[in-house]
Amino acid sequence: MVAKGDMVYAWSTDADILKKGELGGAVTTLQKYALESGMVDAVLAVKKGQDLYDAVPVLITDPAELADTAGSLHCGTLLVTRFIKKYLDGAKNMKIGVTVKGCDMMALLELAKRGAVNLDNILTIGLNCGGSVSAVSAREMIADKFEVDPDAVHKEEIDKGQFIIEYGDEHKGISIDDLEEEGYGRRSNCRRCKYKIPRQADLACGNWGVIGPKAGTVTFIEVCSEKGADLLTKAVAAGALATEAPIPKGIEIRGKVENAMFKLGDKWRKNDFAALSKDLWGTIQKETSRCIKCYSCVENCPVCFTVADELKGESRMITSGEIPPNPMFHLRRFAHISDTCVNCGQCEELCPMDIPLALFSHAIRAESDVAYEPKLGEASYNNK
Ligand code: FAD
Ligand code: SF4
Ligand code: SF4
Repeated sequence: MVAKGDMVYAWSTDADILKKGELGGAVTTLQKYALESGMVDAVLAVKKGQDLYDAVPVLITDPAELADTAGSLHCGTLLVTRFIKKYLDGAKNMKIGVTVKGCDMMALLELAKRGAVNLDNILTIGLNCGGSVSAVSAREMIADKFEVDPDAVHKEEIDKGQFIIEYGDEHKGISIDDLEEEGYGRRSNCRRCKYKIPRQADLACGNWGVIGPKAGTVTFIEVCSEKGADLLTKAVAAGALATEAPIPKGIEIRGKVENAMFKLGDKWRKNDFAALSKDLWGTIQKETSRCIKCYSCVENCPVCFTVADELKGESRMITSGEIPPNPMFHLRRFAHISDTCVNCGQCEELCPMDIPLALFSHAIRAESDVAYEPKLGEASYNNK
């Protein structure tokens, strides 16, 4: 019997999931148990598409298919939870289990505030997240820095501060700090992100804090809600999952890693925002002069969708047949999201003109409350 606040090491008792899972397959097993036991009607997860740089969302109703979703895709930059609003009627008529990174969780909470999803019907299994790497950048990085053909890579992982690839019978790792100094590595919004352990999900799962004989083979789970406690208790009682108490030193190390990630986030914020502070408005005008008015940034934002029609409609800012739009279009969008942007990076990631939109909105958001500082272990998703 586990309760909210408990922490455990966990791993699957299903041999297939244990093998395919990133760190023992606890997440996949919990989703599978939730589906089999009728706690949820479907599971929304991510699986490999064309190759390991291609992460695609899948909705699963047959528990036998869940093993295909096991494993972490670090080039999966998608915002899983927005599909709940877009294609699943906001979980208003079905119960959904979903695996969430911090930004997925923050987006879900913003969607719920706007009445676009029903949180009561959603079971969230959170993943600790050090960051994700854009697929295009990952391929360039592997070719240029690792000097390996990206198509020859059959596995990637992030471990002990290194981005590691496996190809043929070989493997190679390079420090993420070194890669990022040279413009590769995690997306820029991920470098600035400080929501590392998603404690607003029902469970928060990751490898930080797993030490001793089980290091690298099991997942550390922090129980963050009664719903999460219920799922974990039942999955263990049914024999689907094995658990043991975490090593106390591991809990201490986990706290230190989280703290170190906060400091790293601060370092990148200072770096990125300082470059902008001299002339934010001038930089926005210059960069957005490439805008082709495709509206991907509006369509894919988990926050500004409520004013999408207003932003896109014919006005002094938008004239049919003309590009770029008046820069006020962008300023108006930034104003709309200035106090709720979750720094998920979707606007920037999906902009066909590579305009650093997330950087601008994050800088504006952070500026709006410089006093805010997340505390270690804090449940808040506020990502200023
Ligand atoms: P599995 O049973 O293998 O299940 C993995 C689940 O993750 C599946 O549901 C799958 O659909 C989902 N998934 C895979 N890729 C993505 C994606 N890109 N976006 C959303 N869902 C996805 N843990 C840490 O402690 N520190 C970290 O720095 C860290 N960084 C991570 C970065 C990313 C991008 C991801 C996806 C995970 C990260 N994790 C991190 C979590 C860790 O890698 C494991 O996912 C976790 O320990 C669970 O392992 P498991 O074997 O129980 O999961
Ligand atoms: Fe992970 Fe944060 Fe990047 Fe989302 S924004 S992928 S939670 S580091
Ligand atoms: Fe313009 Fe980029 Fe937004 Fe498209 S996604 S409207 S090109 S800023």
